[in-house]
Amino acid sequence: SKPVVAIVGRPNVGKSTIFNRMVGERMAIVEDKPGVTRDRLYGQGEWLNRTFHVIDTGGIDIVDEPLQDQMRMQAEIAIEEADIIIFIVNGRDGITSSDQDVASILQRSKKPVVIGVNKVDNPDMQEHIYDFYQFGFGQPFPISGSHGIGIGDMLDEVFANF
Ligand code: GDP
Ligand code: MG
Repeated sequence: SKPVVAIVGRPNVGKSTIFNRMVGERMAIVEDKPGVTRDRLYGQGEWLNRTFHVIDTGGIDIVDEPLQDQMRMQAEIAIEEADIIIFIVNGRDGITSSDQDVASILQRSKKPVVIGVNKVDNPDMQEHIYDFYQFGFGQPFPISGSHGIGIGDMLDEVFANF
C-alpha cells in the first residue's frame, strides 16, 4: 500500500504551501469527526512514479485547545498515522521554542523524520539550515514552498526510506 507522509511543524512555517505543492490538484476533502475538523488536509502525491498519501497536520483543528497543545497533538497524530514525517521549520527564524517542543515529541517516536527548512528562497540563504542539525534528524533540506525549490531533493530522502 501507499506510504503515508505527514507534514508537521508550528503555525506559519509553510506546511500548507508545501502540502499544496506535493498534492497538486489531487486534494481530498474528507469527513469531519466531532471535535476534529479534517478539511482539505489529506491528499495524494506522486514522486518518481511512486504515489503516496500526505497529511497536512496543521489543518487538524483540535477544538478548544490552546495552540501549544494543538501543535503537540498534531505531532502525536502524525506519529500515529504516518510512515514518515516531514518536519517543517522556518529557516529565517532559526530554532524557536515551539520547534523544540515539536522536535522533542518526534524524537521520542521511532518514526523516520526528514527536516525541511522552509523559506530558503534563494541560494544565498543556504547557511540557515545548519542550526537544525542539532535536532538529530539528519541532513536538513533547504526548501522554498512558495518558489517550489528543493522539494524534489527532500522527497528523494523521504523515499530513500522505502
Ligand atoms: P502553515 O501555517 O505552516 O500551513 O503555513 P502556510 O503554508 O499557511 O504559510 C504561511 C505563510 O508563509 C504564508 O504567507 C506563505 O505564503 C508563506 N510562505 C510559505 N512558504 C514560503 C516560502 O518558501 N518562502 C516564503 N518567503 N514564504 C513562504
Ligand atoms: Mg496551514
